Amino acid sequence: MNASYLELQGIRKTFGGSIVLDNVDLSIQEGELVTLLGPSGCGKSTLLRCIAGLTEPDGGRILLGRKDIASLPPRNREVGMVFQSYALFPNLTVYGNIEYGLKMRGVDKAERQRRCEELLALVDLEEKRGAYPQQLSGGQQQRVALARSLAVQPKVLLLDEPLSALDAKIRKNLRSEIRDIQKKLNMTTIFVTHDQEEALTLSDRICIMNNGHIVQDGTPETLYSRPRTEFVARFMGSYN
Ligand code: ADP
Ligand code: MG
Repeated sequence: MNASYLELQGIRKTFGGSIVLDNVDLSIQEGELVTLLGPSGCGKSTLLRCIAGLTEPDGGRILLGRKDIASLPPRNREVGMVFQSYALFPNLTVYGNIEYGLKMRGVDKAERQRRCEELLALVDLEEKRGAYPQQLSGGQQQRVALARSLAVQPKVLLLDEPLSALDAKIRKNLRSEIRDIQKKLNMTTIFVTHDQEEALTLSDRICIMNNGHIVQDGTPETLYSRPRTEFVARFMGSYN
């Protein structure tokens, strides 16, 4: 069997005495899209933030391609993250937002241009390159955020409820666009959501989270048809 590409071992985190992540183990293969599905407050964002280096876990190991990245600063982890709120730089254009991380890393201008053009095409925003974030729809802003996080060629992409703030129709379109892009790039991805329909349609594998634990991990079909607990059954809508 292949070694996992991203491996979390015993990740623990407490905030003010309450256990938010309770020894979380998770293995992901290269190119796999794994969804973390669970109710609000169960620790999904905290887990992503630990992987990205935005929160320091109290214990555990984070291996990416066999290298332990847990002690590296965020920008050296080769992990990209997209948040629910788009968090774009309001004073930079679409192009400027996508280019930003490359500039910060000292990538030369010709290479920056090459990559930005590629990404603008990938997210279908070539015509909006000169627009500012406030001139874009929510869906377009989220596509910029996606392009920006991909610009620095991360090894893992973390998507924290990237569709939750969008209207239903835009959400569906962007959902399949994200899946297409993820497959095209063979990008190892963790997708966080509390929406089971989203999880069922997008994922290679789903991890159901509750109270800082992964309670069941399996393909969408398995979780839906063979939930191991009442909680999983309810969450997957197996009774409907
Ligand atoms: P989810 O993303 O699944 O909704 P979170 O990871 O955001 O859950 O939060 C899990 C729990 O940790 C919640 O109870 C939340 O209030 C708490 N929490 C998250 N971040 C902090 C923080 N910086 N300080 C204190 N408590 C936090
Ligand atoms: Mg969250």
